[in-house]
Amino acid sequence: MFRQAQDATPGGVNSPVRAFSAVGGTPRFIASAQGCHLTDVDGNDYVDLVSSWGPMILGHAHPAVVEAVQKAATHGLSFGAPTEGEIELAEEIIDRVDPVERVRLVNSGTEATMSAIRLARGATGRSKIIKFSGCYHGHVDALLADAGSGIATLGLPTTPGVTGAAAHDTIVLPYNDLDAVAKAFDAFGDEIAAVITEAAAGNMGAVAPVDGFNAGLRDLTRRHGSLFIIDEVMTGFRVSPAGWYGLEGVAADLYTFGKVMSGGLPAAAFGGRTDIMENLAPTGPVYQAGTLSGNPVAVAAGLATLRNADADVYTALDANAHRLAALFTEALTDAGVGHRVQLAGNLLSVFFTSEPETAITDYAAVKNTETWRFAPFFHALLDAGVYAPPSAFEAWFVSAALDEDAFGRIADALPAAARAAAHATQSGESD
Ligand SMILES: *Cc1c(COP(=O)(O)O)cnc(C)c1O
Repeated sequence: MFRQAQDATPGGVNSPVRAFSAVGGTPRFIASAQGCHLTDVDGNDYVDLVSSWGPMILGHAHPAVVEAVQKAATHGLSFGAPTEGEIELAEEIIDRVDPVERVRLVNSGTEATMSAIRLARGATGRSKIIKFSGCYHGHVDALLADAGSGIATLGLPTTPGVTGAAAHDTIVLPYNDLDAVAKAFDAFGDEIAAVITEAAAGNMGAVAPVDGFNAGLRDLTRRHGSLFIIDEVMTGFRVSPAGWYGLEGVAADLYTFGKVMSGGLPAAAFGGRTDIMENLAPTGPVYQAGTLSGNPVAVAAGLATLRNADADVYTALDANAHRLAALFTEALTDAGVGHRVQLAGNLLSVFFTSEPETAITDYAAVKNTETWRFAPFFHALLDAGVYAPPSAFEAWFVSAALDEDAFGRIADALPAAARAAAHATQSGESD
């Protein structure tokens, strides 16, 4: 199927990480999923530690979510007119995240951050954006930028197809470095429309903000008349009922959401203070739209997911993340391989490093880890029926559906995987 797919789609996949490029081998084509299990087209069963990159906190094919989707589908798939469910989903988000007073639904996390940035620029009349190296906000042109030489110089495109003009107004700074942000504000203060950050970085592996980082960004943006955008597409409604905001309580002006809030169907959202959000069309001049935005089936999946994510689900997510972290630590310690397991809420990552006592707080440190140990670790787990994220730079996502049986399989698989990591050599060969 992978060969067939490559003749139909570039690289055989519709999002690059799925191609297993970072770990080698053949991506598994999934036929079905139930609870914490994935079944591939060859009939192999895996314990899923990716959870569709976050959304499936309740596990796959949760009966209440499937029922809600089926019911919505029988009432029609799309109307291009407002529906009651859109009010309910917006209210569910507003009720959970205090600083959010108005919500606009979109179709992907990319669209949410793209729209939030346009809104921030439109509302402030300013052009520049600060983002952090290693934070991913979807494939928005302006956010596919890298730091130019020296701190607080203008951004350069990270990919062909993004013009210098699109990246020019993006300032890229090291994550968790408030001094660099202060310097950028000293240099460009009244030109900066917004600072955007992941609530806790999860797209370079799990790297939590250091104490005071998000609060410091809040202070700096307020002092300079810029807006603060917290991207909770990954953390939102996963790390607590109110996302990272529920853990830390730092209020942003705008938030972006996705993943969990649409329960595995394509929907996302951005929201924030009324006075800012009302700059959007039709109440204000900043244009933003979408034929399928607020799609009734996606909204039903999101509502059913959020409504079934009760206190027990969040307790289970946290407990499962800590249990997995403990299993990693035990197996990797036994195998004698230097490692550091980091948690950001219930997101987690395994970093192979010869300095396990040193916290990994930015992308430069992530890139310095022994990422070449990851592929043999990954493949040993996969061979034993444990589906891990196929890249050392991704977080692992637990679901509340992981059970004793699943943890038994993970515990059985880890010793050989840890030995494979220990025996890996930098050329990528394992002995
Ligand atoms: C996944 C993700 C996005 C992009 O969402 P898509 O739905 O893939 O476009 C944006 N921001 C963060 C923090 C994400 O994790």
